[in-house]
Amino acid sequence: MYLTFVFSKKGLIMIGANKIKEAADAIKKSSYIFAFTGAGISVESGIPPFRGENGIWGKYDPKVLELGYFYENPVESWKVIREIFYEYFGKSKPNKAHKVLAELESKNLLQGIVTQKIDNLHQESGSKEVYEFHGNMKKLLCTDCGRYYDVSEIDLEKLPPLCSACNGLLKPDFIFFGEGIPPEAYQKSMEAAQKAEVVILIGTTGEVMPAAQIPYIAKQNGAKVIEVNTEPSKFTSAITDIYLEGKATKVMGQLMVALMK
Ligand SMILES: [Zn+2]
Repeated sequence: MYLTFVFSKKGLIMIGANKIKEAADAIKKSSYIFAFTGAGISVESGIPPFRGENGIWGKYDPKVLELGYFYENPVESWKVIREIFYEYFGKSKPNKAHKVLAELESKNLLQGIVTQKIDNLHQESGSKEVYEFHGNMKKLLCTDCGRYYDVSEIDLEKLPPLCSACNGLLKPDFIFFGEGIPPEAYQKSMEAAQKAEVVILIGTTGEVMPAAQIPYIAKQNGAKVIEVNTEPSKFTSAITDIYLEGKATKVMGQLMVALMK
């Protein structure tokens, strides 16, 4: 048994083998567990968060992702979108935390993932049940005829990219400011929140609505909340039962070891 003491904004917090074991025991006892992931889980894959001090929106103007601006200025919007999402993010690879979630699903210790991320890294790690609250950047959608393309099929040298079937403007299949949550992902996330006995929050601060309501709904329905974050979030004092402070790769690796005991 070892213990680590970490100073955080909320004072002295104890993490260690006992908390990891408590989390593993809660997971083992449950029959419906889902993970709720945010930008923090992909930071160690080289994808910076959008918000906060070193976030993307400190460098770029978020107006390029406003629907009205995009339709009026498709070339300008696409130049920035290409740089952020397809040149910068495009080279990222899944990390240990993504892989642990895929492994948990294959062992029937996880029934699904509700994610706010758009980077496709859960699917690339082998996760099957992934509900993408904000869409997916690896697909493009024709804004006229609704046809989908894999971004690898599209030449992004020529902007804006156009639909080969109808010449309509292509848009990344993630939600822009002012767009609604994809209905199927929303429905499945709500179902998960209602069924869950355990929810594992990873790398999410709870600031983006309506996604942030999902863990609250799970809690109201009796789920135990395990939180993995590098610092306390809005969830920590409100709904978290077991707080595991640390980098997602490290904590999820420890949790996997404890689950296999
Ligand atoms: Zn089209």
